[in-house]
Amino acid sequence: MPIRLLSSEVASQIAAGEVIERPASVVKELLENALDAGAHSITITIEEAGKKLIEVADDGSGIPSNELELAVARHATSKLARSADLFSISTLGFRGEALASIGSISRMTITSRVQTEQEGARLKVEGGTTGPLTKVGRTVGTTARVEDLFYNVPARLKFLKSDVTERRAIDLLVTRYALAYADRRFKLSDGKNTVLQTTGDGDRRAILAALYGVDVAKQMLEIQSEEEGSGLTGFISPTSLTRSNRKEITFFINGRWVHDVSLSTALLQAYHTLLMVGRYPLTAVFLEIPPEEVDVNVHPAKAEVRFRNQDKVFSFVQRSARKTLLAYSPVPNVAPSLWGTTRTIPSEPPRHTGLDWAIGHDEELTVRSEQLTVNSQQSIALDNSPTENRQSKIENRIPLLRLIGQIGATYLVAEGPDGLYLIDQHAAHERVLFEKLMAQHAMKNIPSQSLLTPVAVTLPPHSAHLLMTQLPILQHFGFDVEEFGPNTFQVRAMPALFMGSDPSFALRALVEDFEEDESPLQNEVEAKLAARVCKRMAVKAGQALSNEEQRALLHDLEACDSPRTCPHGRPTMIHLSVDMLERQFGRRGAR
Ligand code: ADP
Ligand code: MG
Repeated sequence: MPIRLLSSEVASQIAAGEVIERPASVVKELLENALDAGAHSITITIEEAGKKLIEVADDGSGIPSNELELAVARHATSKLARSADLFSISTLGFRGEALASIGSISRMTITSRVQTEQEGARLKVEGGTTGPLTKVGRTVGTTARVEDLFYNVPARLKFLKSDVTERRAIDLLVTRYALAYADRRFKLSDGKNTVLQTTGDGDRRAILAALYGVDVAKQMLEIQSEEEGSGLTGFISPTSLTRSNRKEITFFINGRWVHDVSLSTALLQAYHTLLMVGRYPLTAVFLEIPPEEVDVNVHPAKAEVRFRNQDKVFSFVQRSARKTLLAYSPVPNVAPSLWGTTRTIPSEPPRHTGLDWAIGHDEELTVRSEQLTVNSQQSIALDNSPTENRQSKIENRIPLLRLIGQIGATYLVAEGPDGLYLIDQHAAHERVLFEKLMAQHAMKNIPSQSLLTPVAVTLPPHSAHLLMTQLPILQHFGFDVEEFGPNTFQVRAMPALFMGSDPSFALRALVEDFEEDESPLQNEVEAKLAARVCKRMAVKAGQALSNEEQRALLHDLEACDSPRTCPHGRPTMIHLSVDMLERQFGRRGAR
């Protein structure tokens, strides 16, 4: 083929590909435009996860009617005049690309009016073709209506994730912006229900509850720090509140949501030694630095930045977070007791027991988590052939143990025929609950018990949405949960096994840590959900147990098919064999 200039249509679709990846990208660009226009109130309407409709209406300054055509043209912006301005950008937009990009891959209608004009103007752009300008009545402000996103680039549509996932991305995005701009009013609705509504009164903690739920929002630590013209505000989680991935570490820099690996690392360093391996904090942190200190023009969707003095910003974030964490003194943690008694013990950061795993570790205990397969038909099986299966089950059993006591309100100490056993009470209880629940499930007979007073639980919008999809599975497990108003559920009964604990814990556990594209097979889903609920319901580390409770736990663990690991594959116990003790004390071998 000879070399040809691309038609403007193709060129703009290519450019659009960089900026608009999914419906949430459209929402982000339109939100940023509204914020740049000084809007106080922003209303977002979504239909079919944004694929059918995304509309963002604001009460900002508006676009003059004679500039409307320019606004939708490529490389047209009112936010930048000279290239030198690129290094002191104080607006969210500056590339002049968003509206043109969106217009080239959807049917877009912009309606706007400025204060100095009596009427508003409207312009339609369909697949990059601009229609005529018409006059319409409107209050001051702008409405951008985007219909049928990607209708003319079907390949893009194929790359989208499920509606649930795309919807969730939008919900999270809007909630995070609402948090960053707590002084503006945001309203997000899906055409039927209001998903999020903020008052614009500046109260960030209230919005935090919309993002993470009330429980979590209450626990989050406020961070506030200032240094040489830079400021850091927002929230970080206490060490007792963690997630299994980094997705909840969010940063805004000068009002812009960015992904910055170095800042995440700075935060993680602040938590150094305070969190267990593989656990991550939740953060919503807002960094304000002089615009000339940061280059925002390094990424087409403006999702990454570069700092002039990287080390300085890094250490500012790290020190501020560390200071906040250390200033926070742990408060007593009331865990729901499963044996009817509730004791409180201050929750502390996880400590190292000083026991060297390499020494205390016995081959026999090598956890076979890779082999561990979950099978909803018959609880846990260790291998696929039936005979081997039984064999390994028996080998995997633990001997009868004699309880010695509890240490650090976290571990049980027991004696077996061959030495000493240290048992992690939380992991062990998780295992016990999980096997009981799965066994009952396999018999299709989960005793369910009605609550005297039904409990209403309100979840953040994205979690509520997710829970809706899981309601039928919950029923199988003996939960009687009903939708009860927007984002609110009523728990009327739950598995008898969990009676006495807080039902809202169970519901939250079901939606916590949900991986975006987790779509395992049906029977795996059930086992996964069960494991998740059992983890939440299990007795915690730091909870003192009575002698009877300790004994009951040991007894139940002995009865398990796979007593040596928790349902997530971590060990429940460490075995110090007589042989090993003798070697360690120099009674044998070394003599
Ligand atoms: P950019 O935001 O990078 O300037 P856009 O394509 O997003 O580029 O928008 C082009 C121009 O249209 C903006 O510079 C601004 O002048 C105008 N504009 C877009 N949206 C709005 C809005 N909601 N309110 C007022 N002006 C807007
Ligand atoms: Mg813009």
